[in-house]
Amino acid sequence: MPQMQHSSKLRDVRYELRGPILQAAKKMEAQGHRILRMNLGDPAPFGLEAPESIVVDMIHHLRGSQGYSDSKGIFSARTAISQYYQTKGLMQIGVEDIFIGNGVSELISMTLQAFLENDDEVLIPAPDYPLWTAAVTLTGGRAVHYLCDEANQWWPDMADVEAKITDRTKGIVIINPNNPTGAVYPRHILQRFADLARKHDLVLFSDEIYEKIRYEDAVHVHTASVATDVCTLTFSGLSKAYRMPGYRSGWVALSGPRAAMSEYREALELLASLRLCPNVPAQHAIQTSLGGYQTIDDLVAPGGRLRQQRDRAHELLTAIPGVSAVPAAGAMYLFARLDPQLYPIENDEQFVIDLLQEQKILISHGTAFNWPTTDHFRFVILPAVADIEEAVRRISAFLGAYRRS
Ligand code: PLP
Repeated sequence: MPQMQHSSKLRDVRYELRGPILQAAKKMEAQGHRILRMNLGDPAPFGLEAPESIVVDMIHHLRGSQGYSDSKGIFSARTAISQYYQTKGLMQIGVEDIFIGNGVSELISMTLQAFLENDDEVLIPAPDYPLWTAAVTLTGGRAVHYLCDEANQWWPDMADVEAKITDRTKGIVIINPNNPTGAVYPRHILQRFADLARKHDLVLFSDEIYEKIRYEDAVHVHTASVATDVCTLTFSGLSKAYRMPGYRSGWVALSGPRAAMSEYREALELLASLRLCPNVPAQHAIQTSLGGYQTIDDLVAPGGRLRQQRDRAHELLTAIPGVSAVPAAGAMYLFARLDPQLYPIENDEQFVIDLLQEQKILISHGTAFNWPTTDHFRFVILPAVADIEEAVRRISAFLGAYRRS
């Protein structure tokens, strides 16, 4: 019987966060091992549940959510999103500019599919949230990575960004606050991106899903607010700050020169209608989520749970010889560095698998985030402090044996 073959479009598509390492962990769990899973940015397993008022609201709307909705999403949710951006100064974002999706993930694929021709290039940060690279590759485009600078708070190296622009470049992806580095970008960096977009006629894809998760005095600036004359797509959703990734609800807001974007908007409307509509019950959670005071502020304030976990994780990890990490200004991760002089890692995926097998802890290797060298790993700061302490103890024990003597 001939092999059923997969499409060649998948040849270069990688998403290692849910790849062989996760399979190895599942196998060990099936054998009865308890794995400390610190590989995904999912708050729910760590007792960080969605605000009760939002869940109650969704339950209330469940019976009335049985039918399909408008392809772009229900009017009340899209209104709430546009009003939210207007209160943040983005006056130009109207209801018609909002598309709701089954999480930001679906919208990343949809917006790129509507945009790219084969071999078009999109600039993506390194390290990145790897879905961006995978989605560009799947559409036939080419992901070109610009470097973020660990020595400068993981902010993008703007000279590298500019150097990587070619006549095939169509857009730039900005992830702010950033997964996996925790960087929050200052206004002047975003202005530089806007200047480059203006100069080279590029579209800005600004993934702001961690907008509300910030520590200390980190300020979030919407890319769209400094790029009012640039075609900009702003992505956000309920998965992180509102802690409901399983409900699958996100959105994208279009802003910039309206006339220049009309053909693209129609293409997006077509793609939105091909998937009929986003999950309807979760759309009812949007208005309540955006509408009032939500408990994320308590989690990130001094003494708040996320803040304590961030601080403790940083303190303990960086106490291990040869381990350093830029403190996260936002999001839920540390992207830690292992000094290559002490830890000569050739294959960081294998390193993480060995750690899993020996210490029953699952973390993510740096190259899974398209980081070019094998000297980083991502540490999720969602577990309670006691679990973070246990996790670091295990990593430290493993590194002790691994260390070059
Ligand atoms: N963008 C970034 C930067 C993320 O880290 C994630 C999830 O981890 C997503 C998008 C996907 O979010 P969603 O659950 O809305 O699909």
